[in-house]
Amino acid sequence: MKQVVVIGGGHAGIEAAHVAARMGLATTLLTMNLDQIGQMSCNPSIGGVGKGHMVRELDALGGAMGRLIDATGIHFRILNESRGVAVRGPRAQADKVKYRSAARRLLEHTENLKLRQGTAAGLLWREGTRGLRGVELLDGSVLPCDAVVVTSGTFLNGRILIGERRLEAGRAGEPASTHLAEQLRSLGLRHRRLKTGTSPRLAKGSIDFSRLEIQPGDDPPRPFSFFSRGIPQPQVPCHIVHTTALTEAIVRENLPKSSLYGGHIEGIGPRYCPSIEDKFVKFPDKGRHQIFVEPESLETEEIYLAGLSTSMPPEVQLRMVQSLPGFEGAEILRPGYAIEYDSFDPLQLHRDLSVEGLEGVWFAGQINGTTGYEEAAGQGLLAGINAARWLRDQEPIVLGRDQAYLGVMVDDLVTKGTDEPYRMLTARAEHRLGLACDLADARLLAVARAVGALGPGELARVEAKVERRARLHAQCEAAWVTQTSPFGPIAVRAGLRLDAGLSLSDLLRRQHMGPAEADACLAQLEGWATEGEGWDLARERDLLLFELRYAPYREREARLLEGHRAWDHVRIPADFRLEQVQGLSKEVLEKLKLHRPETLGQAHRIPGVTPAAVTLLHLLIHRSR
Ligand code: FAD
Repeated sequence: MKQVVVIGGGHAGIEAAHVAARMGLATTLLTMNLDQIGQMSCNPSIGGVGKGHMVRELDALGGAMGRLIDATGIHFRILNESRGVAVRGPRAQADKVKYRSAARRLLEHTENLKLRQGTAAGLLWREGTRGLRGVELLDGSVLPCDAVVVTSGTFLNGRILIGERRLEAGRAGEPASTHLAEQLRSLGLRHRRLKTGTSPRLAKGSIDFSRLEIQPGDDPPRPFSFFSRGIPQPQVPCHIVHTTALTEAIVRENLPKSSLYGGHIEGIGPRYCPSIEDKFVKFPDKGRHQIFVEPESLETEEIYLAGLSTSMPPEVQLRMVQSLPGFEGAEILRPGYAIEYDSFDPLQLHRDLSVEGLEGVWFAGQINGTTGYEEAAGQGLLAGINAARWLRDQEPIVLGRDQAYLGVMVDDLVTKGTDEPYRMLTARAEHRLGLACDLADARLLAVARAVGALGPGELARVEAKVERRARLHAQCEAAWVTQTSPFGPIAVRAGLRLDAGLSLSDLLRRQHMGPAEADACLAQLEGWATEGEGWDLARERDLLLFELRYAPYREREARLLEGHRAWDHVRIPADFRLEQVQGLSKEVLEKLKLHRPETLGQAHRIPGVTPAAVTLLHLLIHRSR
């Protein structure tokens, strides 16, 4: 039987191992420390705008993260609730301790999946080839396998920095992975140093919460997963505090002592998760910065300060923390730190996340230059799916940019690459109107069927919801609104004149029709209010209004997309000689050789490659057939 090994028990590794095993492959998850499976290295939270979208998408395909956060979340909030269905994103604080044990339990109870504690020292090749035959461990043992998914996070040649101190480590308290890093470097893969940082953790009892702004979670909390039946953990509030003039003075006075500003770090950091040093230096006019005060667990007294990531020496960190109102007596349990690590250029990956030139090897997560649990989990899921499909001689699953944020992320990585830690933002998705996170299960239903990681009951549940929505749309199309119909008075109350009849769909498209008027109309339709699993009336009404109102934009976009999509289906033959193409500028040629697009669609998305160049390539590929 074909074997898959997943190296790493972080967020990418959990998904890769879970999905490969669910797809029926004999899978082993190898990780340095079984007790650290699912560890949240930084903030104890999942989701947010863009990131939350990806969690819903991976959930729709049978992934684990949505279910894990639902089982262990202690504070749920839908972000951007008032800004509309397309850009709403779920976010939740996890009980970090419970998240780890839930992740481990899930994996331990997944059929076809074995866990193994150990450190991968290198990949083993079949005699004289770059075809995989196994993974060698530091203790000398060998795990034979046909495919490997490497999800080693920040561990490859990891180095922690606090002030002027440096320490070899994968993250605080855990060793770096040096042997594997050196082997991957020696294979000639392009690598670079990236960095990220985390905030200090404080003792709860040392903070005066009465002076902080309270931030309650949503009541009732809404699950991430389409398949969860509720939120079992008690819910707690978070708090907000702002930095003061004293915080800024302490940071500025001590900048030379920061690893980041003292010149002790060569790696490139995440633009969208800046350290507090960065915030004061790069945004000098902002004055104060918001800090979220978040519980790490209901089982510990540890508090996380989101927004205060720093690599200052511990004594400076303490002064910074104590400059916050309510934190005058605060005690630090774990200082913040920065970490620098090897990551590999994702331009060396195929669209299925396999590594070019290494047969049977996939990379997923932070190793590919991303930052964040959700980005890692999404890649882990896709790498696991594609490793399993490759072993079964099936075509890879490659999601389109118009199909999923996961598709946007992978396409960005393998087509454009990234020279700083990549984080998902809604602005990266040009088709975001079509990527509402509440519709991810319906949108990805056909892909979920092809993957086969959802149970039959789960698929049936999504299918039932999709059918019910289709029926609802048909009812709205067929229902006729006149002054004497039940909808007439509702429309008039909303300030509309009904000179001629119109369909209920057309009525609901009018902005005059707010949620209350829409609810009153929908209540007239047969079956609307009937209970059903996963059928939430307020959410379904919002989705219906969204779909009706944005349908014209989406139809126009769909027409535009047809053209682009056609290019995505034109493969550039592997033996196509770019150098021999007359008429490509030097810049375009260089970009194409560096990015090595596999399709004309990918070529088109490389910054600097002109539409004229793509048309020329199209012509030549067509002629060469
Ligand atoms: P990880 O979660 O790091 O997991 C890697 C796994 O691989 C671990 O289980 C490890 O034991 C295992 N492993 C490594 N090498 C080997 C080997 N040779 N053999 C066996 N097992 C191995 N993200 C943000 O979004 N925002 C932030 O501000 C942020 N700050 C961070 C700060 C710090 C200090 C750290 C460490 C991380 C931070 N992150 C942040 C990143 C976030 O933790 C990662 O993006 C996410 O955890 C990546 O998931 P992953 O699965 O790729 O790797």
